[in-house]
Amino acid sequence: MTTVTRLANYINGAWLKADAEVLPVVNPATAETLAEVPLSPAAEVARAAEAALAAFADWRATPAGERIQPLFRLKALIEANIDDLARTITEECGKTLGESRAEIQRGIENLEVAAGIPSLMQGYNNEDIARGIDEHMFRQPVGVVAAITPFNFPFMIPLWYMPYAIACGNCFILKPSEKVPLSSQKLFALIEQVGLPNGVVQLVNGSKAAVDAILDHPAIRAVSFVGSTPVARYIYSRATANGKRAQCQGGAKNPVIILPDADMDMTAKILADSAFGCAGQRCLAASVAITIGTARQEFVERIADLASNRKVGYGLDAGVEMGPVISQQSRERIEHLIGMGRQEGAELLVDGRGTSVSGYETGAFISPTILDHVNPGGELAYTEIFGPVLSLMHVDDLDQAIAIVNANRYGNMACIFTSSGAAARKFRHEARAGNIGVNIAVPAPMAYFPFSGWNESFFGDLHAQGHHGVEFYTETKVVVERWPKEWSRTF
Ligand code: NAD
Repeated sequence: MTTVTRLANYINGAWLKADAEVLPVVNPATAETLAEVPLSPAAEVARAAEAALAAFADWRATPAGERIQPLFRLKALIEANIDDLARTITEECGKTLGESRAEIQRGIENLEVAAGIPSLMQGYNNEDIARGIDEHMFRQPVGVVAAITPFNFPFMIPLWYMPYAIACGNCFILKPSEKVPLSSQKLFALIEQVGLPNGVVQLVNGSKAAVDAILDHPAIRAVSFVGSTPVARYIYSRATANGKRAQCQGGAKNPVIILPDADMDMTAKILADSAFGCAGQRCLAASVAITIGTARQEFVERIADLASNRKVGYGLDAGVEMGPVISQQSRERIEHLIGMGRQEGAELLVDGRGTSVSGYETGAFISPTILDHVNPGGELAYTEIFGPVLSLMHVDDLDQAIAIVNANRYGNMACIFTSSGAAARKFRHEARAGNIGVNIAVPAPMAYFPFSGWNESFFGDLHAQGHHGVEFYTETKVVVERWPKEWSRTF
């Protein structure tokens, strides 16, 4: 009989077993139980917050140039262990090995950007704002901060926050998704080796009870969140009601407009990768393709072909282009939404339901699916599916297409495919979304740009990454000073 490992929390530089109920961590392709994750109670969060608070005074007094050194060591360790890390992501999250490696690279980027904190957190000043009076603005760390992360990028998303937080002089607590806690265990096993003082970073596993404890703990001054919109809204409300800073990224329903002058082969290929890559479980996945005029026929033929021929299977196996979705429950929800689309009048052009992969019959597989003629006024048009399902709509002109984009209650991303500069310019000016792609269908911002998001895709002011991350994790302090010469000894 094999024993299943029970995961530990990492608090104050030590791995501790929480006295808590556990959930199984399940490989979505094989249904194998990989580990048990504790659902930490509030007391564990309190322990982590106290350790972080105790470490804060010394850490904030550590020069920024020293604070960033562990980030360089972490980057080197992640690169040295990339194969093992990618395998872990694939096992618990289902994406292909190539997708897992790409996710790790995007995470590393944030370590690289945060290593520039000595410059990024510089303030500014003016001499002689009045005669003999100078004014300065300094950035100081906020204190103890926490991040609550989703299942779909278990390695990258914690790195949207941790590097900036600690490089700015804060102490950090991560509460990863209970569905995919192994990637964070591995990340923290590497963090343990980089020479951070005890208490600077903490890992607390759990679900709602741990989240609520984070939202209510008085020592935690700022909360970052990525996940679904209802939870983002809840976390933003409760965190801010408790006087904390909050940046909460929510769900998405991402539209892509295709003009007749687009290169159709390229467009269909890029769209297929966006809609079906990571089994559609990307917050920047294309989920609605809106063709204009004669683009319809050429695009529909190509995308249907690409969807039908995508190889679905276990992400560890060679040649597999798309893995399972995160769970059987998720597969059932997606299949139900496909059925709802049909009831609203859509035509099922490619049906990925009922997929069974030989050798992995218990896996949560669903193949690429295309719904054509989706009703722009129906419920499906505005419901996040978070699976490999592309909805098609057809309109006559760009204004109609932009109207559909802007009726979306989300605003995570919107893209256009065209060879017309004027159409692209009009679109990027008018589209109400935070991340815009022009002939790009996953416009994921580099780590030195903010990961924007509008409407119900984001609650807060400052996004993750880059300058926004630095501003979120620092307080500005303005000093106005006067040093009359008659008060000083003259030398
Ligand atoms: P989720 O909202 O179910 O869970 C996210 C986190 O919140 C997890 O850590 C979970 O433990 C916690 N949580 C869940 N329910 C809670 C509750 N009732 N109270 C308190 N905490 C709770 O999201 P998910 O299913 O893990 O991730 C998928 C979602 O994340 C999708 O909606 C996707 O669009 C979104 N997402 C958004 C972005 C972005 O940048 N906007 C990026 C990635 C994922």
